Amino acid sequence: MGNCQVLQPVNNGYNPLNDVGENDNKNIILLPEHHFRTLHLRLFGAEYLFGAFPEAVRERLSRLKRDKYDKQALKGLNTNDTNWIDHRHGLVTYKDRIYIPADSRLCTDLIHEHHDTVAAGHPGQYKTQELITQDYWWPRMQGQICKYIAGCNLCQRTKPRGEKPRNPLHPHEIPSQPWEHISIDLITGLPESNGFNAILVIIYCFSKMILLVAICDTLR
Ligand SMILES: [Zn+2]
Repeated sequence: MGNCQVLQPVNNGYNPLNDVGENDNKNIILLPEHHFRTLHLRLFGAEYLFGAFPEAVRERLSRLKRDKYDKQALKGLNTNDTNWIDHRHGLVTYKDRIYIPADSRLCTDLIHEHHDTVAAGHPGQYKTQELITQDYWWPRMQGQICKYIAGCNLCQRTKPRGEKPRNPLHPHEIPSQPWEHISIDLITGLPESNGFNAILVIIYCFSKMILLVAICDTLR
């Protein structure tokens, strides 16, 4: 927040046509100068926030009692921490963001506003969080947003999964005694040693004991 200024590009008499390629990205004006104007904005965090602050949220905040405030908020307000400002009527800011007390319905509604609406367009977890933290803050918001999106019906049905669908696993039956189940594997392509060039690996599933047998990978 604070001062905001749009800077005007400067030409300095540079002509890109005379350039041999060393400075071809320097000070090139793509639009005529009269399209640019200087804009001065003087915005103060909380005032700016409250200007764009939905009336419904303001009203709900004003009805919440102090006992809904988190320990962190109460500590910040009671110790005159400069990050925490009480603007009265339920409006508290933390680092120029509107603090939302522990009211799960209000938090859920705010996540809904920033995720499910047509304008929001069901963004992912991090984008949703970024949109919310532009104006609001509350402790453990990241976990709540993650949980909300994991349960979003439309996201579940339409968002593409980044991984291939896996076949269901069919685990082996658990053996109840030795020698009931064994698994066998062949390690081949080994250099010949004493006439053998492969290993038969036998694993007893009951005890996980391994038996190694030197073998040949061809019939003689
Ligand atoms: Zn969604």
